[in-house]
Amino acid sequence: MDEEIFDVIVVGGGIAGLVSAYQLAKSGHEVVLIERGVEAGSKNLSGGVFYSRIMEEIFPDFLKEAPVERHITRNIISFLNQTSAVNIDYWDQRLADPINAVSVLRVKLDAWLSGKCEEAGVMIMPGVRVDSLLKEGDQYVGVKAGEDELRAKVIILADGVNSFLAQDEGIRPKQLPKYLAVGVKSVIGLPRKVIEDRFRVRGNEGVAYAIVGDCTKSVAGGGFLYTNSESISIGVVLQLESIEKKGLTSTVIFDQFLEHPAIAPLIADGELLEYGCHLTMEDGPAMVAQEVSRPGLLIVGDAAGFTVNTGLTIRGMDFAAGSALAVAKTIDNALKNKDFSQSAMNMYRMELDSHWVGQDMKTYKNAPAFFETSRLYGDYGQLLADIFYRIFHHDLTPRKRLTSVVLGAFKASSLKVTNLIRDAFFGLKSL
Ligand SMILES: Cc1cc2nc3c(=O)[nH]c(=O)nc-3n(C[C@H](O)[C@H](O)[C@H](O)COP(=O)(O)OP(=O)(O)OC[C@H]3O[C@@H](n4cnc5c(N)ncnc54)[C@H](O)[C@@H]3O)c2cc1C
Repeated sequence: MDEEIFDVIVVGGGIAGLVSAYQLAKSGHEVVLIERGVEAGSKNLSGGVFYSRIMEEIFPDFLKEAPVERHITRNIISFLNQTSAVNIDYWDQRLADPINAVSVLRVKLDAWLSGKCEEAGVMIMPGVRVDSLLKEGDQYVGVKAGEDELRAKVIILADGVNSFLAQDEGIRPKQLPKYLAVGVKSVIGLPRKVIEDRFRVRGNEGVAYAIVGDCTKSVAGGGFLYTNSESISIGVVLQLESIEKKGLTSTVIFDQFLEHPAIAPLIADGELLEYGCHLTMEDGPAMVAQEVSRPGLLIVGDAAGFTVNTGLTIRGMDFAAGSALAVAKTIDNALKNKDFSQSAMNMYRMELDSHWVGQDMKTYKNAPAFFETSRLYGDYGQLLADIFYRIFHHDLTPRKRLTSVVLGAFKASSLKVTNLIRDAFFGLKSL
């Protein structure tokens, strides 16, 4: 690396880093992006539903040009029990016009974004791992990779959920956050026609399943299944603390999930194309309070903890893109004013807070604590199934009215009225 001083160094070529770099290069700034993987996207993993409206603000032809898989118009919430499943199947044509969510495969999407960055003039350095940050006084002035140093007026940390760099600088605590979760995911190839028939979709339309209950063997977390053009993305997201308490492993839970009688037929005869594990962080209040800038340094996307899991939707990619826009605006302003002090960087927090990124983080800050409620991972799904069983199972005994059916199923469950009131109240306050 030479002694040139760039305007901006971006560490990390995920969505947050690539969008930040693209925006700043488009504004005429000299940007270098450093990615430790052999290419952007090679180390990245998402379930794969991208709430993509934010991308159309950046790339007006995003939906036509980018490698998106399917437009999500059906959302299925599935309560899975050992021998039953209750699904809420929501299809709405309005979700296709305008399109608001698409399934994506990160390897393809990140490579496309990387190409856009290069077209805009970003210098991409793949295969380089940044080891530490360079400081002069309290001002961040560059990065160190091995023996090499590279300098810039501003550094963006977009190095993902672990962000060892933010930990080393004392911006993020070194101890594992309470709500750290591990995601295990496979991409399973199936012919387009099979996907259309099996999931009742046509053309580019797609389905997103949010699955709770027996898929995680009572571990706090859930499962997902998303249809791509010619494959299925399927996985589980499991709270690490909860896995440990139950004495299970994520791979055992994932394998059992794939074999569940309600899931196995959905992926039958498929060919395993990809398999991976990745951490994700859902630390509610801690994330909202987190420091996101220092003089000459800004933190975006997962590195800043911007992920929200509401149980029904997992969102991180749109937060990565949204926070990247806020960062790019702040840096553009700082470069124009030649002011990289803390007060100039504070514009980033104000941008976030006036935008859905900051506001949604606050709205859902209690969601991770709510998802600790163990009854969500068994009792409620079983209760629903028991109610439907009593409705649809005609055994030649006299029928009961619906109220008696519901009360009977409730009495037979291990749930108490106080549980219901508490969970309903907490759920309404958190989600
Ligand atoms: C199982 C799972 C399912 C998910 N499902 C969804 C979903 O359906 N929808 C959704 O919106 N979000 C989902 N998410 C969250 C989403 O994947 C993340 O929020 C998003 O990828 C964050 O993007 P990012 O750019 O901040 O970080 P990343 O995509 O993690 O990118 C960070 C980059 O930095 C690089 N890097 C790290 N350290 C260094 C270093 N020292 N030097 C150089 N490079 C470095 C990495 O190689 C990587 O390329 C899911 C996450 C998981 C784990």
